[in-house]
Amino acid sequence: MTDFSRTKSLFHLPEGMVYLDGNSLGPLPIAAEKHLLNTLRNEWGELLIKGWNEAGWMNKPNQLGDRLAKMLGAPPSSIMLGDTLSIKVYQALAAALDLAGERKIILSDTGNFPTDLYMAQGLIRSLDRDLELVLKQPEEIGDSLDETIGVLMLTQIDYRTGRMHDMAALTAKAQALGIITVWDLAHSAGAVPIDLRAANADFAAGCTYKYLNSGPGGPAFIYVAPKHQQNLKPVLAGWHGHEAPFAFDLDYRAGPAIERMRIGTPPILQISVLESALDVWDGVDMEDVRQKSIELSQLFIELIEQQCPQFTLASPRDAAMRGSQVSFQFAEGYAVMQAIIERGVIGDYRAPDIMRFGFTPLYLDEDDIRKGVAIIADVVNSGLWKRDKYRAKKAVT
Ligand SMILES: *Cc1c(COP(=O)(O)O)cnc(C)c1O
Repeated sequence: MTDFSRTKSLFHLPEGMVYLDGNSLGPLPIAAEKHLLNTLRNEWGELLIKGWNEAGWMNKPNQLGDRLAKMLGAPPSSIMLGDTLSIKVYQALAAALDLAGERKIILSDTGNFPTDLYMAQGLIRSLDRDLELVLKQPEEIGDSLDETIGVLMLTQIDYRTGRMHDMAALTAKAQALGIITVWDLAHSAGAVPIDLRAANADFAAGCTYKYLNSGPGGPAFIYVAPKHQQNLKPVLAGWHGHEAPFAFDLDYRAGPAIERMRIGTPPILQISVLESALDVWDGVDMEDVRQKSIELSQLFIELIEQQCPQFTLASPRDAAMRGSQVSFQFAEGYAVMQAIIERGVIGDYRAPDIMRFGFTPLYLDEDDIRKGVAIIADVVNSGLWKRDKYRAKKAVT
């Protein structure tokens, strides 16, 4: 059984704050401070360029990729770390399109995160071969699969509603029709149990700064099923993915297997934070995390529906259909969110009317949920949120 009071003690959480936004940006793992300082002082500071060899910087993206692989049910040497998720989605989609041959359609859903769709639109433009991005409602995806579709590109857990696709079932159905699958695990990694091998995904990508707590701008990851690795011709053919980066050849030759998903110089300082963030997961059983996340989410839904009947649940009521977040709709959701943030309960808002709350058992317990709901109910029922200052839109919501 996972000891969640231990994991909670490993994070810095500001006094008095109830943090329900780990689905956007995880909190600081306390050990990261010392570890990062060591990387700064003793590695960068003292070793300078020698750090690439002597501190093993060059190998960190693979090493941490392997650590993530263990957490996500993937074989060794199938996950590479680096860049941002937008870029990893682009890489994965480009590789998937290569494998999809002459088929012209990329299928996704209207619940996908915009950057995934924008990257697809940009890639389609640059490939200039009549590719088409088709969007369906999330519930329609299963019935929309047919042999005209080349790539199915989905985010497993909807960033707005928390609705979860059945990754294994949709992958199996797609593959039976010769469709290549690309899964975005942004809201899955560290949130729900993932078994990439069992799901038989072709490609996947995700970020580490949400439920994995690597800090703002922490590196993303990409997964490529071993059977595809050797055939894959990278569109983002960077020198770190070359067979011999330090041969400085004038022509690109793809590196072995997952190595070819590297692009350029990895962010060593951010990787240092990720190392400490992943240490927290040692001894954590993902099934326990899921169980506790469901308990916390159910408690939150129950209490909010009792105390704030003005809100409408926007997430699936069935916990099995939900990731680790709960969303409520309210026309004035933006102002309410600003008012509760000022009172120390942190969630976020997604246009046009969604208030989103993330549940992260590593550092949240039932007391936090009860305390958070009491504040939300007070803000809502007292009308405090109606003050003008809460309606002014900030750049980041
Ligand atoms: C958070 C998120 C992203 C963010 O992409 P970045 O390149 O890291 O900014 C992309 N896709 C999905 C589905 C996300 O939830």
